[in-house]
Amino acid sequence: MGVIDPFGRHISYLRVSVTDRCDFRCVYCMAEDMTFLPKAEVLSLEELDRLCSAFVRKGVKKLRLTGGEPLVRRNIMSLIRALGRHLDTGALNELTLTTNGSQLARYADELRAAGVKRINVSLDTLDPEKFTAITRWGKLDQVLSGLDAAKRAGLEVKINAVALKGVNDNEFDRLIEWCGEQGFDLTLIEVMPMGDIGGEMRIDQYLPLSMVRGQLQRHWTLEETDYHTGGPARYYNVRETGRRIGFITPMTHNFCEGCNRVRLTCTGTLYMCLGQHDSADLRAPLRASESDVLLDAAIDEAIARKPKGHDFIIDRRHAKPAVSRHMSVTGG
Ligand code: SAM
Repeated sequence: MGVIDPFGRHISYLRVSVTDRCDFRCVYCMAEDMTFLPKAEVLSLEELDRLCSAFVRKGVKKLRLTGGEPLVRRNIMSLIRALGRHLDTGALNELTLTTNGSQLARYADELRAAGVKRINVSLDTLDPEKFTAITRWGKLDQVLSGLDAAKRAGLEVKINAVALKGVNDNEFDRLIEWCGEQGFDLTLIEVMPMGDIGGEMRIDQYLPLSMVRGQLQRHWTLEETDYHTGGPARYYNVRETGRRIGFITPMTHNFCEGCNRVRLTCTGTLYMCLGQHDSADLRAPLRASESDVLLDAAIDEAIARKPKGHDFIIDRRHAKPAVSRHMSVTGG
């Protein structure tokens, strides 16, 4: 069962961007004056369900909803509850989401009730002013209340922080300590050259995590572990806090050989690699027929084109983004 790509990788993980809209405008992710998709182009929640379910039928075991900000999509809980049926049948092992946390105070209990056990929350700083400077429109308090609600609801939380030179690189010790106090794992992510972000140069933001890890090891005992979530992060146990820290290093280490994932946008475009242009339109076969025969064939054909890997480069000679779409299109 399941789909296997030309490099023998079993595709078991689908990430779905349910909206390109977001209530934040993180400086490394979006330009402030983003133009969003007209509503007519975006798949309905029923269409997203049908697409996700086709992947589940084909052997996808893990579904992650992302965006934009998944929790700002109107009526998103109806999709999450509907997808929860695949957990009940055992077809799906995990239904999860990546969120900026702004709406968690409202949704944490409902998410847990729908079968979500773990969530990733993006949080780059614990300094309220810096938080607003990075997110442009966000309020740290709102996210911290959301995180409290997630804990109370019994959701396991992993914090994702993008490492930004000169912005949050003096805060990693504090973030590790705070995650230890809160009972959260932490993943640091290298900034990737995706989308025009207006003005800011990637090279000014880019911080190689190989350096960061070396610096952290002066204060923390990072014990190697073979813990894997099936994702690109390399994890260590932090002995002093008892929590894990992961490093996602697309720039300094190419992690494509074990890639088990594909990414669907809210318009039904499937990207077989985060760092390549090639894509497949699944909306046309989805809408062409009520049966899933065309859709199934389009999915198989797309996965047969999954490339070996990406080739991100950030340096002064490569000032343009490696791929022109923003992270909010595929959701990271
Ligand atoms: N709104 C949700 C959130 O904030 O997590 C989900 C979408 S957001 C695009 C997913 C993740 O991508 C966030 O952790 C964000 O920090 C990260 N991200 C966005 N642009 C990035 C870039 N150019 N390089 C690395 N990570 C990026």
